[in-house]
Amino acid sequence: MACIDCNKKIGYEQATHSKEILGVELCERHTRIIKKVILEHNTAVETIQLYYALKQAGANPMLEWWDGSKSVDIAISRVKLNIEIDMGHELITHEQAIQDLEEAMHSFKNGFTTIKIPHLVVKYYLNDTVTNILGIIQGLKANLKVI
Ligand SMILES: [Zn+2]
Repeated sequence: MACIDCNKKIGYEQATHSKEILGVELCERHTRIIKKVILEHNTAVETIQLYYALKQAGANPMLEWWDGSKSVDIAISRVKLNIEIDMGHELITHEQAIQDLEEAMHSFKNGFTTIKIPHLVVKYYLNDTVTNILGIIQGLKANLKVI
């Protein structure tokens, strides 16, 4: 077993422990780093899983990227793609809806594309999620070249 981040060999106990609390197998050091991120940003386990899956796919994701006004769950800066994991446990209010729309407006104005992915999709269809995001990255890259 090896750390999914730094490839350092890890024992069964460490692998099981990190898998249980973070959803991925990490060494002691990276478990500590990711735990800190979760404490600071209230990051969902699904976000961590998707981040590492995208990293392994070579997409160069950034975890909890500060865009100047808020922390974005996962950002692919090269194509200005922001990925938000939607926890979907609260009913959306009018205020929340208009706030979402305003945020979408600001990010489009700044040339960013934001996609929201329900956490259950990440949980149950991680591979399909990654494949689709890679497709979106390719599409965005092609569009950037056109401009
Ligand atoms: Zn590590």
